[in-house]
Order: sequence, then structure tokens, then C-alpha cells
Amino acid sequence: MATKKTTYAVGIDLGTTYSCISYLTPQGQPQTLPNTEGELSTPSVVFIDGSETIVGTEALRNSVTHPEQVISHAKRFIGDPNKCWVIGGKVYNPVDVSSAIVRKLLDGAQEFLGVPVTRAVITVPAQFSEIQRQQTVEAGRKAGLTHVDIINEPVAAALCHVLSEGMWFAELANEQTIMVFDLGGGTFDLSLVKYNKNEVRVKASGGDLHLGGLDWNLALEKYICDQFASETGLDPRLDRESLQAVTLEVEQVKRALSVRPKASVMVQHAGRRKTYGLDRHRFEELTRQLVQRTQDITLGMLKANKLGWAHVDTVLVTGGASRMPMVRDMLKRVSGTTLNTSLSPDQSICHGAAYYAGMLLSGQSLEKSSLNKEATAKLSQMKQQSVNARGLGILVRDMESQRRVPHFLIPANSPLPIAFRQRFGTVVPNQKRVHLHIVESGTSDTDPPVELGACVVDDFPSRLPVGSPIEVTIRYDEQARVHVEARELVSGKSARTTIVRKENVTQGFTEEGASADLVSAEADVAAPKVRTAGPSQSGIQQPSVPPAARATKASTFVPHPSGKPAETPPSTPRKQPTPNRPAGPAKAAEQPRRAAAPPRVKMTIPLEEADRPIPLCNHCGEPLDTRGRCPACLPGATQRKSRPQAGTAASSQPRKTRKRPPGN
Ligand code: ADP
Ligand code: MG
Repeated sequence: MATKKTTYAVGIDLGTTYSCISYLTPQGQPQTLPNTEGELSTPSVVFIDGSETIVGTEALRNSVTHPEQVISHAKRFIGDPNKCWVIGGKVYNPVDVSSAIVRKLLDGAQEFLGVPVTRAVITVPAQFSEIQRQQTVEAGRKAGLTHVDIINEPVAAALCHVLSEGMWFAELANEQTIMVFDLGGGTFDLSLVKYNKNEVRVKASGGDLHLGGLDWNLALEKYICDQFASETGLDPRLDRESLQAVTLEVEQVKRALSVRPKASVMVQHAGRRKTYGLDRHRFEELTRQLVQRTQDITLGMLKANKLGWAHVDTVLVTGGASRMPMVRDMLKRVSGTTLNTSLSPDQSICHGAAYYAGMLLSGQSLEKSSLNKEATAKLSQMKQQSVNARGLGILVRDMESQRRVPHFLIPANSPLPIAFRQRFGTVVPNQKRVHLHIVESGTSDTDPPVELGACVVDDFPSRLPVGSPIEVTIRYDEQARVHVEARELVSGKSARTTIVRKENVTQGFTEEGASADLVSAEADVAAPKVRTAGPSQSGIQQPSVPPAARATKASTFVPHPSGKPAETPPSTPRKQPTPNRPAGPAKAAEQPRRAAAPPRVKMTIPLEEADRPIPLCNHCGEPLDTRGRCPACLPGATQRKSRPQAGTAASSQPRKTRKRPPGN
């Protein structure tokens, strides 16, 4: 019996194109909950009508008649502080849009369950960055949830597979490697998941955050509009309403071609109407490149993990776009196995999230849970382990180029939780402070790293010699959230990160309420084993700079002699942040047609006097100005700064002409 105190295990799949919500019945079975219109899947589309916010199918319908008032695919922009839509003079950011979608789902759930849902698990692509995860949590909170947990989408799919097929009825093989191939509307997520008895563990995850069913639509749309334009001299893409109508038609024809060999599409524009027939073969030709990309990513992941298909026991296919026969055919061809398509492509992730919510709930006080004893007992046996999708590290200075380059301490795909400790040495005599810029790798090798925040330790004792040890500990918790600590070992001074992004904090999102979900070094519950690349704790001595580092890279810090330097990938020029260009009403409906740039994060550093992410002067340790000069030193300090110091890593390097000032 549901009382006000009952807590349900609720999972939300907050998708780019479609979202859904489900809960676990008292017996522990996932069930998708209908929205207030009775639909199991809700289009992730928001229509702003004056003071009213309408979400779902009605919003989608309005995308033709009122395209300038409709926002879709907001998930592609989550984490981008510069993205917003302006409708009716009001500004909406991706968190606002996502929270409206979550609210819509919660309303449906409340109608069904009879009580407000205050706690839920929301799914995110495995490759989501820290800020994208945080903003997803924030969207949930803004929608009225008081407790939000997140889970990677492929993990959710794998959980759904093992729990619905294995745990409850038949027994699965004791050990399995599952490939989760999730092709959704806007993202392609690929993961290798190890199932071992009661544990689900992600071994590797990858994919493409900007590849999904939408790209197949765009290919079709281009083909059809080009044809119409060449025959009539009129281009439907030039008219917002005509284009939106084509977009809806294209979605229908794409779906039809998944089940029929032929379909037709109608285009209306400028008083002309034409109908085109399209067969599956033509569709395949038009989108061959896209299928090839999914194939390359799939084979690339196996290769990167030194695995062959013989190591993969199950290929689990999910995501709405995986229904396209060309995608399944490719996977069957390259894998040489039959695919497991038993899961509902639309609901498996949502169901997996509900299972995860049940797992979390089963570890807590029984009286609050809606699950019966048997379900609680079974769910509490399950464990899940994730890996971090992105490398995590700090920026160090390359003395040769004077550019700051990422130095990754935790490589991508490390099992979570994980912590890594490494010692660095100061690079100038009498250095007063260190300023760590925490970065995570981009979605691909060519993407620049994304800055997450900073950690400053200052007021070092006077006359610290060059190479004085600074110990840096970076930790990822189970939900891929980041904690950083830096300690100057001579004085014992230390600092921990609190990554606060004021510009992203919304009304009602308070520190107190967020304690469970925001990055917080205080929430150091179960300390994971710390891998250390440095010397033993007792080995606090005045280190000299390692010859290895001298011969290669130097930095604001250099790795401590006995610390194994993590691999430093070649730096890539940083892209400029997208200028803050709020779309005016006329542009509001300009939906994302192409991949959005990875989000650039403006940092807000909580420590005093450390509010600018700038490099430090190698002479006095003070921050440089935006032109790379040290206000505390004489003019010309910028040039002298790059002069190798005794014992610094660049001392054996010939000085190179600087091509660019030290960047941020
Ligand atoms: P997301 O989680 O990214 O919102 P979904 O897993 O819900 O994505 O999948 C949505 C995508 O699946 C959309 O691009 C949609 O067009 C596509 N899709 C849904 N059904 C079919 C189908 N029968 N054939 C082809 N594509 C489909
Ligand atoms: Mg999805």
C-alpha cells in the first residue's frame, strides 16, 4: 500500500529526442509509466506558449505551426554555458528545457502512483562530462526532485538485460562480456560490460556524442529538399514552416523504411506539392557514411581494448535508431553473431535506471521502500561498477612552447571509484603558491580538454627550494564526480576543490539541497584505494627535478622524481568558446542541425585571489596578467620567465622562440 512515506524506485531516460519514466513494481519488475496523455514515450520537445510550457507530442506538433516557440534536442547542448533560447523575451537554457521535460514525466508518474516522486535515477550517456552530469542533476532538482542519482545509459541497458533475463527467471551464464550498442536520436553510446555473477562492470565505453538517428534524418532531408529544389527552383529549407513539415515527414519515412522496403514522402512549399518514393536501398546509400562511423567506432573500441568478437558473448542492441535494418545488418556482419534484440529499444534504458534505483533503495531502510522483501533481497545482491569515460588531470606548463598542456593522471576507462596521487615539484625558488587547473579530456583525441575547475594552495613558507614537493590527489567517485586535493608537503598546507559554477546555479538549487549530488570534497564517504605514483608517504624530502622530465616536458609543476609521470598527450589548440549569442525569437527554433562544440566551462574558483584561470609567474609564483606578464616583476618578465631555472625541466632545452603568449 502506497503511503506518503513510500519511496518508489523510479528511473528516467532523459533522451535527446524521446524521454520516458518507469518504476519498479513491489515485485521488482520495471514498468513504464504513461505521461499525462497516456503515452509511454514523451518527445523531448518543449513549446513555450506565453506563460505556459507544453512538453511532448503537442509541442512536437507545434514545431510546424510555431517553430520559433519550440525547443528540441536540448540535451545536445547541456553543459554549454553559452547556449540559450529566447522566446517571448524570456531566456531558456538547456537545464531549463531539460527540467521541463523531467517535470512532465514526473507529473505522469505522480498521476499513476498517487504520490509525488521526489527521488529518481536519471540516465546520461557514458561519455557525458562532469558538467553535463551536474547539469542533468540540476535539471532533475529544478523539476522538483530532492534526490537525483545518475547512471550511464549503457550500464542501465546492461542492468536491464541481466536483471530481466537472468536474476529473476533463468540463470545467465556466470560470466559474460556484453557489448551494449545504443544508437539513440542524438548520441551513439557503445560500451563493453562485464557481467560476473551479481556484478555488472563497465570495462570500456566510447561512442560519439553527436551521432544518432537525427543524422539519418538530416541525410534524408537534404536528399529530398535538394530534389524538390532542383525540380521547382524553390528550396523548402528557406522557409521555417516548410522545413519543419519536411522534418516531420522525414521522421515518418525513416521509420517506415525500418519495416517496409519502400515509402513515400511529401513536400509542400511555396504553393507546390510533390511526392517522392524512396526505397531502403537508396536510403542505405544516402547514409552509408553514418553506418560506417558506427562500424569504425565499434571495431575501434574492440581494438583499443585488445579484444576480438570471440571475447564478446552478447551484442545488446538498443536505442530507437538501432531499429534500422542497415545498422543491425552491419553489426551482424562485422560481429558474425546474432544480436540480442530482446530489449525494447525505447524502454530498456529507462527500465535499467529503475533497476538501479531499486538497487540503491534496497541498500536503505526497508520501511520506506515500495519493494517487497524478495525484490529487495535480490536487488541488494547486484552491484554495478562504472568507468570514467574521460581522462582526468591537470594543466601543466610546457616550457618549450610556454603553452599549458593537459597531464592526465587518471586515464579514460578506469574503473570507478578511483583515486590517483602524484607528486610534483615547484619550478622556481621561493614559489609562493600553486594553482591547479583541473581538466578532463574531450570526447575525442582531437577535441581540446575541458577545464572543470581549479585548486589553489598558497602562502607557502619562504625560501622553498626548486622542486619542493606538491602532492596532488584526484579522485573520481562512483558516479564519475571529481574531487581534487593538493598539498604542499613542507608546510603541510593543502586545498581541496569545490567546483562552483555560479553561472549555472539556478534558483532553488542550494548548497544544502545539493550536498548529495554536487562535487564536494567533504562527501568523502568510502575512500577508494589511492593509486600512488609518488614515493612513500614518509619520503618527504627536497626533491630535485627528474632527468626524465628535464629531457621532455617542463611545467608549472614537474612530476616528482619518484613519481611516474602520466602520459602527456600532444596539446591541441583550444577552441574559442562559442560566443554568447542568444537566439532571438526569429532564431529560437533554429534547432541543432550539427554537432555542438564540446562545452567550454567558465570557471569560478572559490578561493580568494584565485578567481582567474591564469598561469603563474615562474619567478615569484604570482598570477600573470592576461598578456602573460607578471605585474610583480619588471617589464619583460614574460621573456625572462621562460628562461630555464636551475633544476627546472627546461634547463637542458634550447630556448625556442615563443609563437604565442601562454594561453588560458
Ligand atoms: P534518445 O534516447 O537519444 O532520445 P531513442 O533511443 O529514444 O533516442 O531513439 C530515438 C531515435 O530513434 C530517433 O532518432 C528516432 O527517429 C529513432 N527511431 C525510433 N523508432 C525508429 C524506427 N522504427 N526506425 C528508425 N528509427 C527509429
Ligand atoms: Mg537514449
